[in-house]
Amino acid sequence: MSSTPNPSQPNNLPGFDPLMGQLEVLEPGIAMFHGFANVAFAYGRGEMIVVDTSSQQMGAMAVRAIRQVSEEPFAFLIYTHGHGDHAFGTEAFMTDAIARGHARPKIWAHEQVAARFERYALTRGWQRHINRLQFGGAFAAERLFEPNSFTHPDLVYRDEQFLDLVGEPVELHHAMGETDDATWVWMPARRLAMVGDLIVSSMPNTGNPNKVQRYTLEWAQALEAIAQRGPRYLLPGHGPVYRGEQLCAEVLRDTARAIRFIHDEVVRRLNAGQWPVDIVEADISIPAELADKPYLRPIYGCVAFVVRDVIRRYAGWWSGEPSQMFPATRHERGNDLVALCGRGAIVAKARALKDAAQLRRALALAEIALNANPSDHEAIGLNAEILEAMAAGERSFIARNFFAGAARQLRARAPVGTGSQC
Ligand SMILES: [Zn+2]
Repeated sequence: MSSTPNPSQPNNLPGFDPLMGQLEVLEPGIAMFHGFANVAFAYGRGEMIVVDTSSQQMGAMAVRAIRQVSEEPFAFLIYTHGHGDHAFGTEAFMTDAIARGHARPKIWAHEQVAARFERYALTRGWQRHINRLQFGGAFAAERLFEPNSFTHPDLVYRDEQFLDLVGEPVELHHAMGETDDATWVWMPARRLAMVGDLIVSSMPNTGNPNKVQRYTLEWAQALEAIAQRGPRYLLPGHGPVYRGEQLCAEVLRDTARAIRFIHDEVVRRLNAGQWPVDIVEADISIPAELADKPYLRPIYGCVAFVVRDVIRRYAGWWSGEPSQMFPATRHERGNDLVALCGRGAIVAKARALKDAAQLRRALALAEIALNANPSDHEAIGLNAEILEAMAAGERSFIARNFFAGAARQLRARAPVGTGSQC
């Protein structure tokens, strides 16, 4: 586990390190533990309500932080969704309750959370593999998705649920966004919205390259519905708390506008008969006044990923390139090009493109040489170098970790010293 602060989790707290965590009291009775993911809690009425339980790695740390503020029993835990960084820290809360002789907390969540846990159990190996890459070691993927990761909800709802918890009205609203099991929590008396990963202080993480379908249009609709309530506090799943009616409205509405813009543009192009490959190559961008917003920077998700999500939602898997319906293998294509152009010419051109900072084109050529001969050490080293350069310049935490991870895998195959002297 790395202790390097994760730059994709911006936070206003001085000296903040997401893997060490930090506590922030917002107003009497409401506080948030900032960790890799945030844990919000309401206290001071004899019992506590906790929204999200963090990860298996950080659950105990979240409990310790909360205990600095209140000794009250955890009456209710609410999952904003079933992702590992939000719902897998529950065991620490249960252990604390047992140790203090408190009653077992009750867990509220959307009814689809259980199906997510079943899917994770079914695909445990794959989940570990992709999350190890996605989080680049900043998040202990090897400890994710253990049999004891999943603490199922006790109480579920479908569309919305109006509750009175610990003497305070609390509303649970279902949303589709990063997941199909999302809940945003509304505390009307405080005009406080706890929205989980519907807001992550970045371009939303829709269209994650290795994850299942996400819901761009419904995501925008959920943000618009939250904005309609006029929150004074907006507590995101990652990143800083937003305070004040005006800023909350701006963050919600701008984020909705940005992803709606991408959604509508992709749909317009699909309706005009463009193939997915045409739409990807069109390199859609959002209006500059939105791209400049600090909460829409492409530091976790990015516009190109959102485009992919919308395409996948409405179209099939085929890119539109005839050669990709029943594709020749990468090895065949690589060999054919190497036979035509010569391996040396391809490698030299790839290196020249890399030196000219044309990294996408450089990688495309370097991959051809590698695919022709997967044990070509010069090609392995060159691919790794290009990927490292791409990682160094990449703003999206997800893409950066994938590039760096792919480079590391290549380096592990190449004898030491190859790749930089060719
Ligand atoms: Zn999250």
